[in-house]
Amino acid sequence: MINFPLRAGASYKNYGVFALFCHTRDNLKMRQILFLSICLFLVSFHLRADESSSSDNDLKNKPISYWKERLSPEQVRVCRESGTEPPFSGKLSSDKEDVTYYCSSCRHPLFSSRSKFDSGTGWPSFFEPINPEAVELIDDNSYGIYRVEVCCAYCGAHLGHVFNDGPQPTGKRFCINSVCLEP
Ligand SMILES: [Zn+2]
Repeated sequence: MINFPLRAGASYKNYGVFALFCHTRDNLKMRQILFLSICLFLVSFHLRADESSSSDNDLKNKPISYWKERLSPEQVRVCRESGTEPPFSGKLSSDKEDVTYYCSSCRHPLFSSRSKFDSGTGWPSFFEPINPEAVELIDDNSYGIYRVEVCCAYCGAHLGHVFNDGPQPTGKRFCINSVCLEP
């Protein structure tokens, strides 16, 4: 028969060590420090998460100085100040490759070459964005003409305008400045 050390004295002694470990003043301090450390860690983690999500969501509100550090002068003029590039000036206007075009400001995907067509206007033209959520459509009454402005849904970059004289299947013509797109 195996003689396990179950005598009352031994059990009490083991419990006594455990109780000493749990209830000494030093241990109480240690637990308080541990608790405060966990709280501090959670607070800092929460703040970091807030910081990163706000930096993603704030692209639309960045000052022009932010974009001047990252984009060419022509991209700033067209994409951030609602300018228009001269027709037939863009490198994408005669591009035939099967590619995805990304926003030159924020690198989100906006158009696919599968919806690109030759409109003869001198600007890259698409009959639809890569998905409906990729762009925002905004009423534009500048120059006394009603048009629908196309903007990047992620960073608010001005991309161009959309017209109702495009080919099927949508009948839309997204007329986009090439400096606002990058393959
Ligand atoms: Zn963008």
